[in-house]
Amino acid sequence: MNSAEDRRNIGAGYRNGRGGAATGSVNKDCSPHPSLSDSLEGEIRAFLTDEDELHTYDDLTKVNPVTPTTVLKCLQARYRVKVFYTHAGCTLVALNPFQPIPHLYSLDVMKQYHCAPQPQEFKPHIFIVAEEAYRNVQGQLQPVNQSLVVSGESGAGKTWTSRCLMKYYATVAASSSVVKSQDTVEKIERRVLDSNPIMEAFGNACTLRNNNSSRFGKYIQLQLDRCQLLVGASVQTYLLEKTRVADQPTNERNFHVFYQMMKGATDEQRKEWKMPLGQHFVWLPKAEKTIEEDCFLDTVEALDHLGINEERQRQIFRILAGLLQLGNVYFSPPMNESQPCDVEEHSKVFLQRAAELLCVPAEELQQCFRVRTLQAGKQSVLKPCSQADCGMRRDCLAKVIYAQLFEWLVTFINNSICADKSTWCNFIGVLDVYGFECFHINNLEQLCINYANEKLQQHFVAHYLRAQQEEYVSEGLQWSFVKYQDNQSCLDLIEGSPVSVFSLLNEASRLNRASDANTFRARLEKELRENINISWDKFSMVPHFTVAHYAGKVDYHIEGMVEKNKDPVPPELISLLEKSENSLLHQIFSEKETDNVTSKGLSKVTVVSKFKNSLESLMKILHTTTPHYTRCIKPNPDCKPLTFKKEEVIMQLEACGIVETIHISAAGFPIRIPFRSFIQRYRLIAKHSRLKSQSHFSDLEADSSDIHQQQVEQVLEVVSPSLCVDCEKRSLWVHCGKTKVFLTQSMLDLLEDQRKKIL
Ligand code: ADP
Ligand code: MG
Repeated sequence: MNSAEDRRNIGAGYRNGRGGAATGSVNKDCSPHPSLSDSLEGEIRAFLTDEDELHTYDDLTKVNPVTPTTVLKCLQARYRVKVFYTHAGCTLVALNPFQPIPHLYSLDVMKQYHCAPQPQEFKPHIFIVAEEAYRNVQGQLQPVNQSLVVSGESGAGKTWTSRCLMKYYATVAASSSVVKSQDTVEKIERRVLDSNPIMEAFGNACTLRNNNSSRFGKYIQLQLDRCQLLVGASVQTYLLEKTRVADQPTNERNFHVFYQMMKGATDEQRKEWKMPLGQHFVWLPKAEKTIEEDCFLDTVEALDHLGINEERQRQIFRILAGLLQLGNVYFSPPMNESQPCDVEEHSKVFLQRAAELLCVPAEELQQCFRVRTLQAGKQSVLKPCSQADCGMRRDCLAKVIYAQLFEWLVTFINNSICADKSTWCNFIGVLDVYGFECFHINNLEQLCINYANEKLQQHFVAHYLRAQQEEYVSEGLQWSFVKYQDNQSCLDLIEGSPVSVFSLLNEASRLNRASDANTFRARLEKELRENINISWDKFSMVPHFTVAHYAGKVDYHIEGMVEKNKDPVPPELISLLEKSENSLLHQIFSEKETDNVTSKGLSKVTVVSKFKNSLESLMKILHTTTPHYTRCIKPNPDCKPLTFKKEEVIMQLEACGIVETIHISAAGFPIRIPFRSFIQRYRLIAKHSRLKSQSHFSDLEADSSDIHQQQVEQVLEVVSPSLCVDCEKRSLWVHCGKTKVFLTQSMLDLLEDQRKKIL
């Protein structure tokens, strides 16, 4: 396999004897760190690369020069001719076609890539990445675990891509071993794939940006045995957006599973779930219809296949139906403040139904919304809750139940698909995580998501630089000249110790009093003033802070952040659920003390601490694997087929690190030209000089079999004699490896200038 070579070959052009300096003139304005603002509109640049040929470039690093503008044009040209995958050095860029592309993912195509001696020679495709990882697992000396990191903004195609990868392995690595559980017997690959519809039903929702948006992050490890066959899998999930159960943003919807139940229920189920036809549920806002809501039977079938028996399924759906009823329960303010609120007259029926479905006493359910128990020494005192608090406690109950149910499902899925440790020896991990987010209003959720992206970016940069370093070393060059500032300082700001945004947030969360956004802001400012990655708009009325992420600046609102980090669950709610006669609910809340819910209802671990820990375990795993990156790009915000909006795409190229990759490659010697191509193009410089000086130069015929470094040196000497004398100065411009010349953009400009003068 020449994949390692392929991955390493970063920098401009000259691969396969194509691209590079074949035509046109050098772009003089090309700074090694092109800014985005000047790269978009109104600029007609002359590329070394022929623009008419741009769509044929299957690796963005072949485009010459590599700038955000050229990269963008290349992607656009390819999208126009319906080519959706493009390499970018060690990354695969996947443009979302927003329409089914016939045969692109068929069994035949899978087989082609799987059986090819050199799949990399085929057109770029997600199956190249899949196959490369699959072959890498075997390793030359010892097997190496692999990770496929799929990133991109919401709707860009991450989940689609992850599904494609899973299907690929379920096909080419099918072991067809059977798994038994309860009364089902299933082939393992089927079972692994069946985890998808379940997790999507419970974890995905229709949002403004994607009709099937995953509201959680996921890392799935596909376990392979000694013969490279798929024998099991395990799933880890991150940050389920549980608030959606009780609070759906305008024009967005709740999790698919609720709509599936509403639409797919039989008459009998409707009766059992107390969901008569036409019943309005506040927590089920109607927005654009999605096909996902028609999938109730698919979800049930997948539950069957995973071995969740009928009784368990009944319990699950009763719990979900109970949550919907809760959403219709409202409270009216009391006559005087010392009295608890009442459940509104017309919502009483919903409270009753919720209690029945959750199998808890209605009176106690109502009581734990209306009254809080305060511990004063050994005495407990009852205190009525305000109307707003009642609503919050109702929402909190729904969120904690949904989140714990989701977690239970994931654990069940893992028990059902995870192979015994003795049967598998390697894995291929697929990571489908939310991309960088920057909304009008950002809060703790975005901070966590963007922090995760910073971590992944750091991992990517380290890997990318390592790949570059390998090429330098294999070419016999020193690795000391690439100076690149990574994003460590931003990570220090967010998660570092002793003081960071996270540590201060945790400190504020530990203080047992209502948090004040302005106080927290002042504390941040006092403690983190020195860090260059954080700033404040002094004139803003809204308490906020701005973090300079690698992908851009994001403004975070502080209001509510500390509460979100505490994520408290009133103890009365947990005690109530422990008493539930729904055995699943009872089991979930009494069997184990989960990370952040104890029987006392207090959050032991804050949201950011929990997330930081789970991310650290993920990074540890990623560090032990060979990574492969796929960056999904959403070509337009409206999910329209075959529509390419340049502004949208460039922002994503920046956010997903492609522009950063360009910067890094420019930090070293981005132009790498094999000796042969170099001499072919620039021999005339030396020849011309020979004519002038009448001195003896060795023959520079390109088709001579003896093309070597000496001849390259002769050209360089002519272009800039002073460089060749002063070694130190020269090392800033050019290096000769064993088979290639490594150049800066400026050196290339100089060569091109000389060449043009002669022509
Ligand atoms: P993400 O997980 O990044 O939020 P999805 O994977 O859910 O995005 O993709 C959003 C939608 O885009 C999908 O539902 C599908 O309709 C479409 N899509 C994504 N990738 C492809 C593809 N390769 N071919 C056809 N349609 C796609
Ligand atoms: Mg998704």
